[in-house]
Amino acid sequence: MKVYFEGECCSDCCLYLANGEVPEERSNLESAILANWPDLDKFFLYNGEGYDEFSMSECDCCGSRLGGARYGFVVLTPETEETEETEEKGRQGDRIT
Ligand SMILES: [Zn+2]
Repeated sequence: MKVYFEGECCSDCCLYLANGEVPEERSNLESAILANWPDLDKFFLYNGEGYDEFSMSECDCCGSRLGGARYGFVVLTPETEETEETEEKGRQGDRIT
């Protein structure tokens, strides 16, 4: 697995990512996340780092602009053979130059 994206999410998303719980008052949370990440064959993981007690910045996960706590989370993608090959070529290129 490799890190595709690192960002901050709201407490609703944090709960959802960690436990799969959708808060009652955010019954549309899943669809909001899917709308933000339409090609969701990636994996969202809450990483427990980068806690911000209060922030007005947009949630990177569901797009909510509600002020509140923000939690670090990462999006991981499976490492395919194709990407490994590309990285290998990149390293060889570095050596030449
Ligand atoms: Zn959110």
